[in-house]
Amino acid sequence: MEMILPEDVSYIINKLEDAGYEAYAVGGCVRDTILGRKPLDWDITTSAQPSFIKSCFKKTIDTGIQHGTVTVMIKDTGYEVTTYRIDGEYEDSRHPKSVEFTSSLRLDLERRDFTVNAMAFNNKTGLVDEFGGIQDLKDGIIRCVGDAKSRFGEDALRMLRAVRFSGQLGFDIEKKTLQAISEMAGNLKAVSAERIMTELGKLLVSDNPGKIREAHKTGLTKVFIPEFDKVMEAGQHNPHHIYTVGEHCIRSAGIMVQFFNSDRPIDGGIYNYIPTSVLKKVADFTSDIDRKHQLMLCLSMLLHDIAKPEVMVIDENGTGHFHGHPQVGEKMASAILKRLSFDNETVSTVKRLVKHHDYRIVPEPRAVRRAVAKIGSDIMHMLFLVQYADILAQNPNTFAQKLGTLDSVTEVYKEVIANKAPLCIKDLAVNGTDLIASGVQKGPEIGRILDKLLDIVLDEPEKNEKALLLNYAYKEISRR
Ligand code: ATP
Repeated sequence: MEMILPEDVSYIINKLEDAGYEAYAVGGCVRDTILGRKPLDWDITTSAQPSFIKSCFKKTIDTGIQHGTVTVMIKDTGYEVTTYRIDGEYEDSRHPKSVEFTSSLRLDLERRDFTVNAMAFNNKTGLVDEFGGIQDLKDGIIRCVGDAKSRFGEDALRMLRAVRFSGQLGFDIEKKTLQAISEMAGNLKAVSAERIMTELGKLLVSDNPGKIREAHKTGLTKVFIPEFDKVMEAGQHNPHHIYTVGEHCIRSAGIMVQFFNSDRPIDGGIYNYIPTSVLKKVADFTSDIDRKHQLMLCLSMLLHDIAKPEVMVIDENGTGHFHGHPQVGEKMASAILKRLSFDNETVSTVKRLVKHHDYRIVPEPRAVRRAVAKIGSDIMHMLFLVQYADILAQNPNTFAQKLGTLDSVTEVYKEVIANKAPLCIKDLAVNGTDLIASGVQKGPEIGRILDKLLDIVLDEPEKNEKALLLNYAYKEISRR
């Protein structure tokens, strides 16, 4: 393994070393470089105190000065430089009461959560691996530094972080660490929603979102999303399904991640049955979707059937029915995401996707135009991804026909878009000002007439002409 530090990182380390201090790249960047992954960011740990770090570099930001962290700006990139520290006692499984600076790198590494996150590197000393991080990286294991129970006792979020890293790295959680999570899971309730949200988000978009099963088995999900524990126990009693509701949701989230990463196996390759033709089709819809919206899609998959246990009815033949689950699910998803402190855009988009996930569109232009008008053109591409992932996580014996229909719907949708058919009020050849100019009174009447005009052009897009629509509007007012 050859570690090559980026130029900026070497510059910061050299500068601190030249002044007589120690400095190392540390944590995630060392772990990821050893694994041959590109680090998201580079953190530096040093024996220098924050005031000295600040005096050493031209531009710095006081990111978390009370915890010893200063961000050093080199051109437009920020590097977090943190003084070696020992975390004081944790009052409430949330925050250390205090931190204490130290001159010992070993003590700084000892406070870190997992062995694979507790390695440091610089060009002078090479790799510092005091807790067997390299061996655990080789074995693919997430293991606490020190005694797992006391480490989780200090900061309960580490339990969910263990699951998140096992998802990101495709690692197993070491036996004692896992056992400690099962014993201490309840402590997660003391952790803020924001910190839980961050870890959940990173887990869901990771290469192994299915590791959420570990969070369920150990009792972690019960703390922050008990609704999910309910779906994990809910059978479907329906020929379209071979999994419990929860297992179906987990698989559908994995399939969604697979859509965005068709070059590598997700969840250990269990979705390799997805036809290449489907991966090609969905690529049309994934191409413009950023990371934030990918997370919204994964959240939608996790929650799309969340209301099934609430509405399930078993008929006289023993078949399960779930009438109204998208609408009840919309409300439940909203409550869950708000509780977890997700931002408004995420809450509102996931709500809409859950509400419409089961909307069956007939593959013909008029029906597709009406569906877009109802659902909203801004999320149609996301809804198609949700529908593909949903189908592919159902009974494999039933999905060929459903996929065929969805393929046809998406083809018609592409034509509708290519033809620039009017799909919302904004697309109409007339607007409110035109209506007022032709004699319609200001007020709610304008909205009613525009709705009526949209209704006309959704059926017959060729009627989207100003003169024609004004004529309709005129007839409409004369009738009143
Ligand atoms: P990524 O940047 O991909 O999320 P990372 O390992 O850099 O991965 P961060 O959450 O940024 O993760 O944390 C940086 C480092 O700080 C970790 O590698 C770990 O050494 C330490 N760390 C972070 N959070 C904790 C915690 N709650 N308890 C102990 N150590 C932690």
